[in-house]
Amino acid sequence: MSTPIFKNFIGGEFVASRSGNTYERRNPADQREIVGIFQDSNADDVNDAVAAAKAAYPVWRRVPAPRRGEILLKAAELLQARKERYSRDLTREMGKPLFEAGGDIVEAIGMAQYAGGEGRRMHGVTTPSELPNKFQMSIRQPIGIVGMITPWNFPMAIASWKMLPALVCGNTVVIKPGEDASVSTYNLVECLVEAGLPPGVVNIVTGFGPSAGQPLVEHPDVPVISFTGSTEVGRLVYELGARQLKRVSLEMGGKNPLIVMDDADLDLVLQGVIWGAFGTTGQRCTATSRLIVHRSIAATLVERIVDRATRLRIGNGLDPSTEMGPLVNEDQLRRVLEYIELGRREGATLRCGGAHLNEGVYAHGFFVQPTVFTDVRPQMRIAREEIFGPVLSVIEVAGLDEALAVANDVSYGLSASIYTRDINAAYRAMHELEAGIVYINAPTIGAEIHLPFGGVKATGNGHREAGPTMLDVFSEWKSVYVDYSGTLQRAQIDNVE
Ligand code: NAD
Repeated sequence: MSTPIFKNFIGGEFVASRSGNTYERRNPADQREIVGIFQDSNADDVNDAVAAAKAAYPVWRRVPAPRRGEILLKAAELLQARKERYSRDLTREMGKPLFEAGGDIVEAIGMAQYAGGEGRRMHGVTTPSELPNKFQMSIRQPIGIVGMITPWNFPMAIASWKMLPALVCGNTVVIKPGEDASVSTYNLVECLVEAGLPPGVVNIVTGFGPSAGQPLVEHPDVPVISFTGSTEVGRLVYELGARQLKRVSLEMGGKNPLIVMDDADLDLVLQGVIWGAFGTTGQRCTATSRLIVHRSIAATLVERIVDRATRLRIGNGLDPSTEMGPLVNEDQLRRVLEYIELGRREGATLRCGGAHLNEGVYAHGFFVQPTVFTDVRPQMRIAREEIFGPVLSVIEVAGLDEALAVANDVSYGLSASIYTRDINAAYRAMHELEAGIVYINAPTIGAEIHLPFGGVKATGNGHREAGPTMLDVFSEWKSVYVDYSGTLQRAQIDNVE
């Protein structure tokens, strides 16, 4: 099979990077397999894409919102029809097992339906006036060109969370997908274009962060930046955007705790911990990376987790029996192995895993064993820093107060969970956990697209994707007062006794 070449998608045309530079992406489960050749773009390509988005904007913003929504709804049908093929593309580009890749596509389908329906809602508020013969309402308006920068771990879902709400609001888009997994963005856009999206409304520029992402953030014609990725890069994006007073929405890292109280159903906990910690090879922003467990049940629970973790079937995600795939790239592999070494040096006890798998079927990929550390203290770096790999740190506590204190004692605040059958404990946790998402008797992963998604503290800057909040980043409120009295009526003056 010839190697697919992905050109930038600008103004409805596929174009090579101006410099002619490209880069290659290989399957993280088997480095002998090339996924595709992509454009190594720079500021010149970003300028072209922004110019195309700018040219398309005046027409797109005037397309009635229900019509824009219909395009999204049609795209949902196309995504559904192609789910299997797109899942395989996604697994090959970033490694997660096929069943999880299918979930990524389903999230995009859900978002296309939800955002598509918004075309017929997009409610504003209408209120009575203080004055007679005066009418007032508020409407949402698009802002302009939205620059989107996405990571590789949910390459279809995250692109859809940003792109579809932005489009239904009437904005045009330039997206710079994660360099390790750009195919899924092309697949999403393919469906939108076939569903009727006009040329230039969405543009794709591939490449690396500093050379292709940063020029997008700094481009003066791009008033909104929607970023998902690490806190380190998010902070830079925020600073650069602030200089031009841009609206910047940031979704960043996590160090998500799962609390287990002594009355919890341990069978349920076991399933939740395995899925939360090792699903997507731990490479989820919402991955369970800290298990905060009541001391009285810790030994029993850890034994069962270790037993299950050591039996997880690790392999190429394209094999339907695979439960855990590879890490996304060599840097990520090195980083995870360094954290495992650090955990040992910090004095934690390595209960299982910890090894780089590099022989036999694993010889050509970036595989690491599911890893569990016990005797972890909250001050250790493995208990505080985002590892983004299949590494679980177990911290023992004496009760709910200590559990909540430990859970909140990190810089991040994305997702948190508690397993308990005590309703009072559950409600206390719901209120006191410093996180944008809380689960009761479920692991830290499993968000649905029709509730707000995002985090507090170093995870976000106050915005929420998805849910009814999803339009806020991509639209500007306008309040409209219609005075049909035929006289000058001065609010707060003429109506005051
Ligand atoms: P990353 O920060 O390395 O990269 C994210 C994106 O930013 C990529 O497209 C990259 O090319 C781009 N980028 C890098 N440097 C840049 C620069 N100087 N200017 C502009 N863009 C730049 O993150 P990653 O490794 O792709 O993804 C993993 C991280 O993403 C983790 O920290 C994870 O927690 C986070 N994440 C968060 C969420 C969330 O919703 N909170 C969801 C998924 C992933």
